[in-house]
Amino acid sequence: MRRMNPDELADGVRAGSRAHIARAITLVESSRPDHRELAKQLLRRLRADAGGSVRVGITGVPGAGKSTFIDALGVKLIGQGHRIAVLAVDPSSSRTGGSILGDRTRMAALTASDHAYVRPSPSGGHLGGVARATRESMIVMEAAGFDVVLVETVGVGQSEVAVAGMVDTFLLIALARAGDQLQGIKRGILEMADVITVNKADGEHEGEARVTARELTIAMKLISSDPDARRPPVLTSSSYTGKGLDDVWQAVLDHRAYLEANGGLEPRRARQQLQWLWSLAEGEVLDGVRNSPRVRALRAGIEAAIAGNELSALEGADDLVRAFVADVPTLWPPRPGDQAGFTG
Ligand code: GDP
Repeated sequence: MRRMNPDELADGVRAGSRAHIARAITLVESSRPDHRELAKQLLRRLRADAGGSVRVGITGVPGAGKSTFIDALGVKLIGQGHRIAVLAVDPSSSRTGGSILGDRTRMAALTASDHAYVRPSPSGGHLGGVARATRESMIVMEAAGFDVVLVETVGVGQSEVAVAGMVDTFLLIALARAGDQLQGIKRGILEMADVITVNKADGEHEGEARVTARELTIAMKLISSDPDARRPPVLTSSSYTGKGLDDVWQAVLDHRAYLEANGGLEPRRARQQLQWLWSLAEGEVLDGVRNSPRVRALRAGIEAAIAGNELSALEGADDLVRAFVADVPTLWPPRPGDQAGFTG
């Protein structure tokens, strides 16, 4: 990456230049320490222009029809004057080498549109790193004027928790498959859903989809322990015929209106920021432990001693933590003029 000037990059992003947006996202996805520092400077400049979008998480098992749905819904929303950013959180990309959500050809219409920006899941690294990159990319996209941000994820568990922590509304794309008890959707994911749609409700499957929607409506009543709690609407939709897409989008907007009427969006986002604060701080400390030269030097010996029963895990952990603490001043050198460490 060419040496970048954060001011120039921020101006380009705000002007909506696709080249600058691409570079900004590549920057926030990088974990190189010098890139992290630049990314911080960039995000500081963009923050005031961010936050203005409708943020929607979209989950569903592979094959549920997420990308086809996002493509169809996105085109519709562009027709209404919106600008759509599509981001993804798919930590499996680091294991398999190919991300399930990383294939750019999946959303052909949106990918070709000037009013949309489709970014595959950042690859490499653990969920925490992927989630951080996606969250920061969201700020870039909002500052660039995208007013709808769709964050796609694969419906397998942990990544949903991360995405729920960065969106206003969580949409679950389910499938009609009669008899298949909740079709392998994890209960935790059902509990996170604010809106559910039974997808591929077309042709011979339309009736089946309606039946599944009714079953899911009942299931949602059963899993909610609070009888007064809002229950997510369960709709049906087809990206092929377009039927139900407007209703799903309306349900997303209704959920926002519900949030507004119950304390507003800002407290929710503020809570997300607080959780994010701690998840970032913990992530940085964990990275510090992994990068600590003293920990690296000791690690194999301590592991062998524990395996050979010469050392207890308790003692080994104490040694590792002490080694890490000794490296802390090198890992986080004091910043110039830094007394208490708070730069706010
Ligand atoms: P994803 O893995 O969740 O992103 O699913 P895809 O969007 O790639 O869709 C998986 C398969 O379902 C593809 O073969 C699509 O053509 C098909 N599909 C997607 N949406 C619909 C739909 O609305 N109706 C029907 N009948 N098939 C669909």
